Amino acid sequence: MSFNTTQLQNLANEALIIGKTCLEGKNADYIPFLASVPPGLCAISISCCDGTIIHSGDYDYDFALESISKVCSMSLAMQQKGSEQVRKKIGAEPTGLPFNSVLALTVHQDKPLTPLVNAGAISTVSFIDAPDKESRWQMILDFQRKMMSQNVRLSEDVNTSEQETNFHNRAIAWLLYAANNCFSDPMDACDVYTRQCSTLVSCDDLATLGGTLANGGVNPVTKEKVIDHEHIAPILAEMTMEGMYDYSGDWAFLVGLPGKSGVGGGVVAVAPGKMAIAGFSPPLDEAGNSVRAMKMISHIVNSLDLSVYRPS
Ligand code: GLU
Repeated sequence: MSFNTTQLQNLANEALIIGKTCLEGKNADYIPFLASVPPGLCAISISCCDGTIIHSGDYDYDFALESISKVCSMSLAMQQKGSEQVRKKIGAEPTGLPFNSVLALTVHQDKPLTPLVNAGAISTVSFIDAPDKESRWQMILDFQRKMMSQNVRLSEDVNTSEQETNFHNRAIAWLLYAANNCFSDPMDACDVYTRQCSTLVSCDDLATLGGTLANGGVNPVTKEKVIDHEHIAPILAEMTMEGMYDYSGDWAFLVGLPGKSGVGGGVVAVAPGKMAIAGFSPPLDEAGNSVRAMKMISHIVNSLDLSVYRPS
């Protein structure tokens, strides 16, 4: 199915107005850097499978990828080990609890349940085969670039801000290690996980990440095959279950597309075989999702009837 670019541009412009007029939410402040990002920034980008990108607002402002990086390392782990190994070792269940919950670990014998919460992401990083920590980090950064663009880069400011405050994640890494669910040195895994969250991307890059999934694993802009087709459905299933934190069920109900958000203010939603839509604006709801990004994406998805649950 192809979409008319004028219609998509009009929808993106409408969505931006809806986003900008919403004054709810608050920047994440448990990572000091994120509290300093101007809260009025707002962008929407659509990545079509033919490589076209439609956008409106601050689409070229570079923000911290944060939790959305979990999709990239999960995809890399599936490429290396197969999706079934990722399901067996890490899991494919929603936790129903906040993204950094220790309680979720405790009630499941320290098994993380999904690569899309902090515990599961640290475990996933440690599961990726690499000769050493620096090579593992480079592989993850390269994979982020393949799914998005060469614009993706580590922010020393974000990384320093996170490394100096990530005590909770370090505790999670040790709990995983004690239960044999961290497959490398736990502090190395936590360090690389923190770096993968600290890369800067634009809203166009984020849309391209989703576009690579919507397009069956081929980056729609570079045309490079990044992920094998067989892993796309498992990746999207994981995103459906946990991508929007403990709001994932509501998101499936209201929007009906696999999505992933990060506390940097980015959200990406994937309409398989059609397009991906990314929104960015820093103020978050209680669960950690960008309020404006969700409103903007919902407007486009509902206008185009894109829910995967809607009988065609
Ligand atoms: N770096 C953040 C953390 O580990 C990412 C959280 C998120 O975006 O959900 O807390």
